Amino acid sequence: MAIREIVLEGDPRLRQKATRVRHVDDSLRALADDMWETMLDAPGVGLAAPQVGVSRRLIVIHVPAGYDHDDDPEINLRLANPKIVRSHGRQLGLEGCLSIPGWAGEVPRADAVTVKAVDMNDRAVRIKATGYAARVLQHEIDHLDGILFTDRIEDKSTLRPVTEEEYDEVAE
Ligand code: ZN
Repeated sequence: MAIREIVLEGDPRLRQKATRVRHVDDSLRALADDMWETMLDAPGVGLAAPQVGVSRRLIVIHVPAGYDHDDDPEINLRLANPKIVRSHGRQLGLEGCLSIPGWAGEVPRADAVTVKAVDMNDRAVRIKATGYAARVLQHEIDHLDGILFTDRIEDKSTLRPVTEEEYDEVAE
């Protein structure tokens, strides 16, 4: 595994629509491993392949236990071709991005999502998530379509520099 360089806002690779994964093979799993290490090192709670300059539909997510409620389990995901097939409700919460260091803003998102994807064994999976976990999934899937969280902010005055501690909790 290796830590990759994270692409920053302004780089055109963050604005491209990423290419669909045809087969999950060893090279894709190796990329997911590198992304995993890069995300933990940053640290962040999620990372999408375009953020390491690779135009593939691949995301990794690591949300610590207790994210919304004390009994919420830790969430660890490596997903190819993730697609939101159902969403409902609305939440507004603080969000940051590893490609926009030091900044965060209030982003509206669906409160619950169902995501169809392919796991690292090339098997179809269906993931249901609510609250913060649903937020992270939506943020990462947006990256695959060249969308940044700043595009989703309705009240631009909420976009502000945050402390390192605050940033580390919301960077994805
Ligand atoms: Zn991001």
